[in-house]
Amino acid sequence: MMSRPSTVTALVSALALTACTSLSAAAQSASTPEIDDAQALADLRALSANFMDGRQTGTRGAGIARGYLRDRFTEAGLVPVFENYDHVFEYTARGASETSEGQNLVGMIEGREEGGPVLVITAHYDHLGNCDGEVCNGADDNASGVAAMVAIAQALQSAPPRHDVYFAALDAEEVGLRGARALVADFPIPLERVALNINLDMLAINADNELPAAGAFHFPFLRARIDAAGAVAPTHLIQGYDSPEWGEHGDWTYSSDHAAFHDEGIPWVYYGVDFHEHYHQPTDEYEVVQQDFFVSNIHTVMNAVQLFDAELEDVAADLQEMRANAPEPLGETEEGSMRKPGME
Ligand SMILES: [Zn+2]
Repeated sequence: MMSRPSTVTALVSALALTACTSLSAAAQSASTPEIDDAQALADLRALSANFMDGRQTGTRGAGIARGYLRDRFTEAGLVPVFENYDHVFEYTARGASETSEGQNLVGMIEGREEGGPVLVITAHYDHLGNCDGEVCNGADDNASGVAAMVAIAQALQSAPPRHDVYFAALDAEEVGLRGARALVADFPIPLERVALNINLDMLAINADNELPAAGAFHFPFLRARIDAAGAVAPTHLIQGYDSPEWGEHGDWTYSSDHAAFHDEGIPWVYYGVDFHEHYHQPTDEYEVVQQDFFVSNIHTVMNAVQLFDAELEDVAADLQEMRANAPEPLGETEEGSMRKPGME
């Protein structure tokens, strides 16, 4: 597949023109991020290859995945946030008594404007290793999200964002979101500056070509923005899966790494498909990935990144207003009881 420009240029340029205070910033924002679709598919394929051995946290296969991602972070021009991108942390897995060592990779792109709110994009690279004695390669879960994240990072090199954007390939998600919680605990700048987390987990398989975006139930000021970014993309985007009304296993508030940000009262958008027959199965392989759907989803998320970057001050202001009017402090909610099975 050929690379193609994002379809949201006109919309975002218009937003940027109204939001930017300096002419030069507006002029710079007119450049269009070029997503390398073929490279994104190649990254998805590599991360879900047999030699990654299912990328289970703490294994050699996960180490090979990190080696691959370090090279891709470097090629994408990401500034290391920790030495060599490595954020090493101790954790106790769900149901375990002993501690283990996990390893996130974190890089960033410096925005054109210094200070102010920042955007954090996350995707977990770990998977299950073996399931029922067979290697589970985790192509959709979550080689797809990581490959999309890297594609977006690379595309932003040709169209620098206004605000600092952090990119975190997270470890130990499958054992209870431990990498995300460690990153939030050790975040390199004050968490007050994090205006939004965009979490990517499973972007490549859905029979109806439907991509859910969750989060606006908790942070209603996101809803129109998510729709605006989704409307100009080829993917059929739906909003939801973030409240009890979505039924058993239908509230994904705590189903992936965005939960660590949620608990801090930080707004988030989780892009990820519904359950499917390959979910947590040995058949979740590159061969069953819907390539066009995956690529269109990258463009959808790219549109959202551009739109939220252009409006990040407004998002931060909306959050302040919501906090001021909230009866209880945000982030101190009861943990959701409905989760994706096997995930926290
Ligand atoms: Zn996952």
